[in-house]
Amino acid sequence: MNAQQFASDNYAGICPEAMTAMAEANAGSASGYGDDAWTRRATDAVRAVFDTECEVFLVFNGTAANALALAACCQSYHAVICAERAHVDVDEASAPEFFSGGAKLLVARGADGKLTASDVISMASARSDVHFAKPRAVTISQTTENGLVYAPDTVAEIGAACRARGLYLHMDGARFANAVAALDCHPADVTWKAGVDVLSFGGTKNGMAMSEAVVFFNRALAEDFAWRRKQAGQLASKMRFMAAPWAAMLPSGGWLANARHANAGARRFAAAVARIEPRWLRYPNEANGVFLGLPEAVAAGLRARGWVFYTFAGNVSRFMFGWDAEAARIDALAADLAELYAATAHAA
Ligand SMILES: *Cc1c(COP(=O)(O)O)cnc(C)c1O
Repeated sequence: MNAQQFASDNYAGICPEAMTAMAEANAGSASGYGDDAWTRRATDAVRAVFDTECEVFLVFNGTAANALALAACCQSYHAVICAERAHVDVDEASAPEFFSGGAKLLVARGADGKLTASDVISMASARSDVHFAKPRAVTISQTTENGLVYAPDTVAEIGAACRARGLYLHMDGARFANAVAALDCHPADVTWKAGVDVLSFGGTKNGMAMSEAVVFFNRALAEDFAWRRKQAGQLASKMRFMAAPWAAMLPSGGWLANARHANAGARRFAAAVARIEPRWLRYPNEANGVFLGLPEAVAAGLRARGWVFYTFAGNVSRFMFGWDAEAARIDALAADLAELYAATAHAA
């Protein structure tokens, strides 16, 4: 194996608990397409975590979870309000538009990539004529694409704005576990109790192989979703291998332990950067990501030393920490940054 990198939290492998659960599900035969004990246990475990009745559907990845959840909220002439840099807008190859048959994404130009209740109100009120797509849903990412979290009262404000305007609220929770771990709140407090109708609950970045749960708190929206999932090619025939890790990791608390470990890795790295050059830190470190505005020479120096990471528009370099983040690798990355800092400071 290559040395650990922090380009993405999906560089991590499958965590031991998920792997064991899959091996146990492999001990014989079982019926297909979700009609099995593991899938029943997984969906019951999701209901227990959220402490409410909800409809749960497993899909292979986050793009499908988001696109199909939004399609369930929208007709083809509807619009979905989202934040700037939202994964649904910039990283899903128009899957939400495609699966909804044409619903338009309306992007709020916010400062820090976080949607506000007032964005929702102003964007939903901007046009009501028949010539423009009709706003029908709002989607927020928890955590956001730049590593921030929405606190329960902020979600509740957005939820209230949605209800006032007749909009459904979807949450892209590809990193939902990291957000819950960071907020140290009950999962219900940032979802259905705050007005979330449907959640894309991420398992993959949390340590599973390939699985996200679409969780409908608004159960009416789940009508015919089974067909939507099948049509999209997202109905796993051997679903027990997607379900078994959920059935294990939710009741054991392994999902939160993984997320806490990932968040701690980011915290360790952010603290080290703060000791080297705090002005490099672009956003507050709230969950499992650290975003740096590095001088070109430093970023190039890191790459020359073998480090892999993404640098986005606006010169923001992203470092993501997974369930397996190794303290020694984080320290090695920080040590290289410190050396490059010293070298470039001399040159200046
Ligand atoms: C990773 C991620 C997803 C899921 O993406 P897939 O590659 O389709 O699994 C969705 N939303 C956000 C914010 C993500 O970071």
